[in-house]
Amino acid sequence: MAYDSRSNSLEEHWMPFSDNRGFKKDPRLVVKAEGTHLIDHRGGRVLDGSSGLFCSPAGHCHPKIVEAVHKQMQEYTYVMPFQVGHPGSFALAERISRLTPEPINHVFFVNSGSEAVDTALKIAMAYHHARGDARSRFVSRERAYHGVNIGGVSLSGMVKNRDIFHATIPGVVMMRHTHNPEEKFIPGGHSEHRGVELANDLQRICETYGAGNIAAVFVEPVAGSTGALPPPVGYLKRLREICDQHGILLVFDEVITGFGRMGTNFAAQHYDVVPDIMTMAKALTNGSIPMGAVAVKDEIYETVTGGSPDGLTEFFHGYTYSGHPAACAAGLAMMDILEEEDLVARTHDMIPYFQDAMMSLKDHDMVNDIRVAGFMAGIEVHQGAMPGLRGTTLQKEMFWNGLSVKFTGDNAIIAPQFIMEKEHIDEIVDKFRSSLDQHE
Ligand code: PLP
Repeated sequence: MAYDSRSNSLEEHWMPFSDNRGFKKDPRLVVKAEGTHLIDHRGGRVLDGSSGLFCSPAGHCHPKIVEAVHKQMQEYTYVMPFQVGHPGSFALAERISRLTPEPINHVFFVNSGSEAVDTALKIAMAYHHARGDARSRFVSRERAYHGVNIGGVSLSGMVKNRDIFHATIPGVVMMRHTHNPEEKFIPGGHSEHRGVELANDLQRICETYGAGNIAAVFVEPVAGSTGALPPPVGYLKRLREICDQHGILLVFDEVITGFGRMGTNFAAQHYDVVPDIMTMAKALTNGSIPMGAVAVKDEIYETVTGGSPDGLTEFFHGYTYSGHPAACAAGLAMMDILEEEDLVARTHDMIPYFQDAMMSLKDHDMVNDIRVAGFMAGIEVHQGAMPGLRGTTLQKEMFWNGLSVKFTGDNAIIAPQFIMEKEHIDEIVDKFRSSLDQHE
């Protein structure tokens, strides 16, 4: 859609996670997108360095998705998802379960990552309840991001996201984050020994609160939104061990890492740790139609669905738009694209080049640290006058310099599209560097 500042008002839309007043004075609008690039309202071409918000790895306006959604909309546009269904959601669940590790084979559809997290919390509650186990505490981690609904905010480890929102669920205990500011520019993010030590926070929480009271522990395998913090070696495996020892469910929030970002289908496969529950969203539909999902082990599905009398609803949860036909069509097309274009293997092969390219920025005096994990990097710049101010300013400057990058505070999070060539990676580095050079 075109934009004309003389006839189009920007005032009425309250934008999410944005500097509304600043934006409306100096808007950055995308009026078209194709493949690796966005076209802004002044006609400039902007390279998409963060795949939108990590959600469009197959490229913008992929013809297969456009065609699939268009065709779906001509057949049926909506079907009630409670007690009635349509073939698309079953087909998509089957395709997702081919990618998830065994024995994770059951998929519950939602509309976003935030809904996936809140649904995972409720599945964990329902599972323990069905087993007659009164566990009610949850464990999360400092610097975690699990979306913005009240369940996800309760698990949040990012202060601004929870600061004034007091109505969170009770009983959430935090493990320490895994970032060590002393260790900078280490490709794996950490020296070897800290994984087990940090994961043992969960053991200490078990000893303090009673392991039998803890329902589930939530972690992003790579903490994404806080600035790409890779897990230290052995960390996720040790969490798995502690969970197994005490009957605690391990939930991987794979909203960013799912569908290839680590060069494997999910981070679970990259780190060789199978969780009990996985949340996913974003790349599931290549960002084209909102959709999220929660995938669970067979035993969880069977316990929850087996826990009520025959003929009655088993799990009192779901959304009007769970498994929406348009989202399923987009998701199925995305599953085909991942397979036909071999995007996960392609990403896997591109990761070393990408990580080296990102690390080449470490000589810039404005860069404080760089962390890389799979096809994602966090580039932290030295703080300016206030925390986050330099990051917000740089994000704007980079956009006008032809590079779209997501910043959280003073951390840029680079997450290229899986279709990008080495030249695109080089262009990200060049534009990032020149934006730093030009920054006031
Ligand atoms: N969980 C993680 C790990 C995320 O990174 C995000 C979003 O970035 C979410 C949940 C929330 O997803 P959404 O914005 O689709 O609600």
